[in-house]
Amino acid sequence: MTKFHNYNAEDVVDVKPAECCETCQEQLDAVQQELGAYANAVHSLFGTVASMRAMEIWLALGESVDAPLTDRYPNWRKITIQAADKLVAMMTKDVGSTRSEVDTDGQ
Ligand SMILES: [Zn+2]
Repeated sequence: MTKFHNYNAEDVVDVKPAECCETCQEQLDAVQQELGAYANAVHSLFGTVASMRAMEIWLALGESVDAPLTDRYPNWRKITIQAADKLVAMMTKDVGSTRSEVDTDGQ
């Protein structure tokens, strides 16, 4: 089993085939499927801005050295769960800051 490699956000966005090996192609396919499903779900629930942010979070987690692994490869499903968690925390924080601004104006 080779180390997970040659992987970056551009590969996902461009959806170009992996040139190095079949395993990388399988990982690319898995990423497109997982990230695509996640982005679509967020888009249908919260709209375009939220889905863009969701993808940024997901890709950042996927590229992180702390990404959860299974058999030395990133566990994309776990990354999706972590990304959803972060997105919710971020959106909740946004709502909180907006509210505090309103409260401040009201005083
Ligand atoms: Zn490869």
